[in-house]
Formats: sequence, C-alpha cells, structure tokens
Amino acid sequence: MIRVRFHGRGGQGIKTASQILGNAAFLSGFQAQDFPLYGAERRGAPIVAFTRFSPDPILERGPVFLPDLLLVGDASLLNDSQAAPLCGADESTLIFVNSPQDRDTLENQYSFPSTPIIDDLTGRCLKHIKREHIFSTALAAAGARILGTIELSHLNQAVEMELASELDASTLQSNLALVEEIFRSVSPRPLVERAAQTLKPTSLIQVQQGQVSEAAPIILAPGNMALRKTGKWRVVRPKIDYEHCNKCLICYARCPDGTIGIDADGSPQIDYDHCKGCMICAQECPGHFIQTIRESEVVDESS
Ligand code: SF4
Ligand code: SF4
Repeated sequence: MIRVRFHGRGGQGIKTASQILGNAAFLSGFQAQDFPLYGAERRGAPIVAFTRFSPDPILERGPVFLPDLLLVGDASLLNDSQAAPLCGADESTLIFVNSPQDRDTLENQYSFPSTPIIDDLTGRCLKHIKREHIFSTALAAAGARILGTIELSHLNQAVEMELASELDASTLQSNLALVEEIFRSVSPRPLVERAAQTLKPTSLIQVQQGQVSEAAPIILAPGNMALRKTGKWRVVRPKIDYEHCNKCLICYARCPDGTIGIDADGSPQIDYDHCKGCMICAQECPGHFIQTIRESEVVDESS
C-alpha cells in the first residue's frame, strides 16, 4: 500500500490534489481512498489531505501518520508548529516541498528526516495557469511522478474528471500542459514498502472534541487574533501603487482579515504581519492599483 499525505493552506486546492491522485490511482487499477482533514475552515489556514492506494483492498482508515510520500504544497508550513508537516515522516519517507529555494538552503533551515525533493511548483503554476495559489493539479502530478506508478494518461483523465466541470476548455488545457511539464521535470524515486501501520495519535492537528454544542476548535482567549502572525502564510503579497490609488478604500472594506488600515492621510496601509496574501484586495480594487508580488521576490520587507 502507498500512503500519501498532503499539506497546504485553505484555498490552494490541497483536497482536490488528493482527489486527483486517488482517481488517477483508481484509473491505474488500484483501490484508492482520498480525504481531507480540516482544522478551522479559513482561507490560508493549514489543511491536510490524504490518499492511500493499493492493489489489494484497503482496510486502514483514518489519517496517515507515517507517510510513504509527503507532499508539502507550501514551504512556509515548515515554520508552522501547528501544521507540523514533517510530523511522523521518517528516513524512508519521500518528501516533496514546493519552494523556489534550493535544497541546500532548505536543508540548512529545517531538519528533514530524508533528503527532500524540491521544485518551484508555484512558478510552474504562474507560467501555465497564471494562478499562484492553486496547486491541486501540480501537486498531484508531482506526487504521481515521484511514485512512478501512475501513467500520464490516467493522471490527465483524473484531472479532467475533477476540473472539467469547473474550468473553461482553455484553462483545462493549461492544467494538462502543467501536468506534462511536471512529468518531464520531476524524476520517479524508489519507494520503501512498509508493513501495515499501527494507528496511534500523534501531534498532527488534534481537533478537540467535546459536547455537540461546543464541538469546535477551541478559542482559549478572546481578542487573540492579532497574536497569530498570519503574514507567514503568504505565497504572494499585495503592493499598493500609491501614485495611482485614489483612496476609495474599497480594499480596506473588502479585506476579509481587516489587515488594511487607514493612515492620517486617508491612504490604505497594509499590515504585512497579518496580511495572509489572499489577494482579494487586488481583485476588488477598481483601478487595479494593487500589484501581486511573489514573497520569494520581495527585496524590501517593508513595502
Ligand atoms: S490585505 Fe489583501 S491580500 Fe492581505 S489579507 Fe487583506 S485582502 Fe488578503
Ligand atoms: S481599492 Fe485600490 S484605489 Fe481604492 S484605496 Fe484600495 S488601492 Fe486605492
């Protein structure tokens, strides 16, 4: 059996990635499971999803604690103790990280139990589908390619099954071109077959359960939103073009996290400690005066 765990952020298509991989495995003749595990449902918040597939009936249920393949869709999660994407991975786990950084830089920053495979999927998504936030197709393709057990034709079919009803024909073709590029660029890696796992809870996202009336992730203190530096969630950041901004303040009103303030001059000011990079402000600015900048290309942190 092959057990895959996906880590990403709400809105990046992580659940869809697990479904695409599960469907592609099924089309390749395997039995398959795929499912997500949500914490707080919030765009940008860490989420986890899982795919298992096997030539035999799958009797395991529940989260994958010891993954054969770990796909980290957003390298900023490596810094996040609540997401803990490396939790449970060991020296036999194949680890993939979406990052524009090179392997040496990442290995100097984080303690990986096995040598990670690094690829800038965000850059590939920008090139093909012009969207920096949606990794579903790219992450599923990277996973399928690394495992080497799924044919490109089956992956393409799975992408069409998941996305054809949501995308226009041209965007669907762009996703298929993205898949093909990843299949050409990423190499298959040998997998260590594991015995059946003993399922035991680890520190991976423990959602507290209580009475139905209170069965939700617990907020331990009121007014604590500012303590969570959601600026670490960003893949991209908004940058206001003050030469053209007419101070209409629509961005201020539409930011879902209240991270745009107003200065004494009446101009919008972004709080980068808490802006999570959802780019709703850029979509809403009537004059398109908010640029999208990749975090990896930011030179001056203060702007
Ligand atoms: S400032 Fe813009 S990108 Fe940042 S959280 Fe608000 S709407 Fe999203
Ligand atoms: S929506 Fe655009 S024009 Fe209006 S205040 Fe924001 S940046 Fe300026």
